Amino acid sequence: PAFLLRQPIEELPDALISQIAAGEVVERPASVVRELLDNALDAAASHVQVRLMAGGTRLVSVQDDGFGIPPDDLPLAVRRHATSKIRSLHDLETVETMGFRGEALAAMASVAHLRIASRTADADSGQLLDAVTGELEPVAHAVGTTVEVQELFFSTPARRKFLKADVTEYAHCVEAVRRHALAHPGVEFAIWHGGKLQQQWRGLPAARQASIAVDAFANGTDTADTESAAHTAMNRRMADVLGAEFIEQSIAVHYQAGGIRIEGRTGIPTASRARADQQFCYVNGRFVRDKTIAHAVRSAYEDVLHGQRQPLYVLFVQIDPARVDVNVHPTKIEVRFRDGREVHSAVRHAIEHALAPSRAPATDQAGS
Ligand code: ADP
Ligand code: MG
Repeated sequence: PAFLLRQPIEELPDALISQIAAGEVVERPASVVRELLDNALDAAASHVQVRLMAGGTRLVSVQDDGFGIPPDDLPLAVRRHATSKIRSLHDLETVETMGFRGEALAAMASVAHLRIASRTADADSGQLLDAVTGELEPVAHAVGTTVEVQELFFSTPARRKFLKADVTEYAHCVEAVRRHALAHPGVEFAIWHGGKLQQQWRGLPAARQASIAVDAFANGTDTADTESAAHTAMNRRMADVLGAEFIEQSIAVHYQAGGIRIEGRTGIPTASRARADQQFCYVNGRFVRDKTIAHAVRSAYEDVLHGQRQPLYVLFVQIDPARVDVNVHPTKIEVRFRDGREVHSAVRHAIEHALAPSRAPATDQAGS
């Protein structure tokens, strides 16, 4: 057949390379939301506004009050493999920012209309970069950054066809914001859709002072005050994002051993759900899907949850970044632990420990 006839090897044009690479990072509007929120949080923002049109297919815009991008750096921000976050292999192995691959903005620029307005604290005015034309011009902007992604996949109709109805894409975008919001209770998040404010979760200033909750938990040097501020903020954010019932139906998780710290809340057995829709797991502040952790949680519920019932949980696992490889997947939703068994046993013990009081009476009765 004709397709087996060999053609000479040629290097692909740059634009096509970018579009191919973009496929790994940008799958749908929610991927854009996720990447832009990562960037806002890496820039130490305390207020983040997410604006969407038509479920994010026409527009995703994220505005933050982080440290901004200096004018000289702005054109570089949209170049492939250009990042301010790592410089060396050593940095990669100990990376603590959400981003480091330097490809999200480049990916968006190759499959959508991208504009970035930004201003740093020491600049007199903001600068606007239009990634389509490459033009840079002054613009009025507060300190921080606004990234606008319009008409996703306009140039790649085949991909555009894979998008679902706007309501579905919108739901995925909201889920992306919820995932970030849970991990950053000190940061305010607002979601607008079609010009209307849909959600607003205020940041708890105490948590900002104690740095974000996960940070306060992470460094192990937290005082009782910052720790309790972090817990208060974490619980309030969970109630805001997941509903007050979540707090009533869950138990606090605290665990620390072998350099692994686990904080969060896990559901009481009677509050289990038919679907796994309230399971949030973070490793060093990054939302991940991890089989080891999911299995460990499941095994802790082994004798109290039956059949296909799903526990609810929000777990923040903190571990030395050198003990986890975050560079496994372009979207970083998967990680690899250097020692999965230790993580498994830590998570299992953390949950068993949390569940023990609710289990004890039953055991006593059975024994008497
Ligand atoms: P990465 O986050 O992996 O570095 P990105 O393509 O997402 O790659 O962003 C490229 C660079 O642009 C970042 O390294 C950062 O310096 C800058 N940048 C992007 N978004 C923001 C933002 N909201 N605030 C400040 N700087 C930003
Ligand atoms: Mg990024």
